[in-house]
Amino acid sequence: MALPFAGAHVMAYSIASLLRGALSGNRDWQRTWRDAVPQDRYDVVIIGGGGHGLATAYYLAAQHGIRKVAVLEKGWIGSGNAGRNTTIIRSNYMMPGNIGFYELSMKLWERMEQDLGYNTMVSQRGIVNLYHSDAQRDAYARRGNAMRINGIDAELLDLDAVRRMMPFLDYDNARFPIMGGLLQRRAGTARHDAVVWGYAHAASRLGVDIIQNCEVTGFLLDARGTVTGVETTRGTIGAGKVGMAVAGNTSRVAAMAGLRLPIESHVLQAFVSEAIKPLIPGVITFGAGHFYVSQSDKGGLVFGGDIDGYNSYAQRGNMPTMEDVCEGGMALMPMIGRVRLLRQWGGIMDMTMDGSPIIDRTPVEGLYLNGGWCYGGFKATPGSGLVFAHLLATGTHHEEAKRFRLDRFMRGATIDEKGQGAQPNLH
Ligand SMILES: Cc1cc2nc3c(=O)[nH]c(=O)nc-3n(C[C@H](O)[C@H](O)[C@H](O)COP(=O)(O)OP(=O)(O)OC[C@H]3O[C@@H](n4cnc5c(N)ncnc54)[C@H](O)[C@@H]3O)c2cc1C
Repeated sequence: MALPFAGAHVMAYSIASLLRGALSGNRDWQRTWRDAVPQDRYDVVIIGGGGHGLATAYYLAAQHGIRKVAVLEKGWIGSGNAGRNTTIIRSNYMMPGNIGFYELSMKLWERMEQDLGYNTMVSQRGIVNLYHSDAQRDAYARRGNAMRINGIDAELLDLDAVRRMMPFLDYDNARFPIMGGLLQRRAGTARHDAVVWGYAHAASRLGVDIIQNCEVTGFLLDARGTVTGVETTRGTIGAGKVGMAVAGNTSRVAAMAGLRLPIESHVLQAFVSEAIKPLIPGVITFGAGHFYVSQSDKGGLVFGGDIDGYNSYAQRGNMPTMEDVCEGGMALMPMIGRVRLLRQWGGIMDMTMDGSPIIDRTPVEGLYLNGGWCYGGFKATPGSGLVFAHLLATGTHHEEAKRFRLDRFMRGATIDEKGQGAQPNLH
């Protein structure tokens, strides 16, 4: 998608602009996006300046020509899960509903940098899900076959192939011996904060207002109960439509409109080690415990595991889960014990009861919901923005998001994607 118009004071990047910047002693750089002040009214107000909210605003402007759009963020953009995740992108899903959606998202990752005119450091270095039993191999074979009949790349690796690819894992004394793995080569990582900045940049150039330090504190409803705007810490803002994309705060924001959702909020932690030489070729997930790891471009090992296991809105984690994650790492690759941990943090997951997201209208007219991403929403960022913008602009569900309906829990039409965004009820 070419950007048809460049908004004032927003940088456009090219070889020429990079050279100009370098030769001018880095004094001529302009803003990456406009930090706007709220106007009285917008056609669409998006609550939440994470990846999903910003992507939605971008696609509203770029694909539907709706530019009178504001993204309201209570902190700074990317201060939520968008800047806290472990940056893994993949489309190795199995259930109808998820499989097409996540592959749509993967295709958008593959052209994101061209679309946005911004380097988001998408790196398709592959993901291997290790298996440790015959039953697990069969489950992964089934998943791989489902992917392949849907045109998605998947390879079932035997033990020799895994050993060649990752000789540093424990193959000799493991409590749960590695038997092989399911590989998706097109999976990988992207730099999470650059994704936020990239969408903010491209949306801002199309005229979208990005308003930080603006917390939504209530909804304005007319006599028929239709949403007409929002109350915020920076005043009242009118809106034709309002979209929620607030991830871990979904239940809290929805409650302001009188809604109770099938979502629980849980803490998930991430960990980064000191930088070491290149070791991990892609993303590895341990099938016998909850541990996954990749290596950042700076050299740190980036890893994580289970949710902390109780409801919370505190963006920090607790020691027992840290210990559990580190034990998982030690079981898989004992030499990780010699690496020093540099940083650790937590984010709040909006966990649905079937592990799959919700993108739908709500029972409140004019209020739309994007949430329930569990701990798999980073990879969904571009796809989520695209299909949510489609819903907001056209009033109809995008083909690849038809099953993410809110009433599926009532109808028994859940999308039970076990192991892909763990359900809190199974912990
Ligand atoms: C430790 C960790 C590891 C993860 N690893 C992965 C991974 O490897 N791969 C993957 O696919 N996913 C991963 N995830 C999940 C992923 O990060 C989330 O599902 C996704 O980021 C959620 O969408 P978002 O980016 O829009 O959310 P957020 O960035 O959380 O955006 C929501 C925004 O809404 C704002 N907000 C909330 N309430 C209000 C209000 N009242 N008014 C205004 N603004 C408000 C918040 O401040 C926040 O900035 C991980 C998450 C965590 C925490």
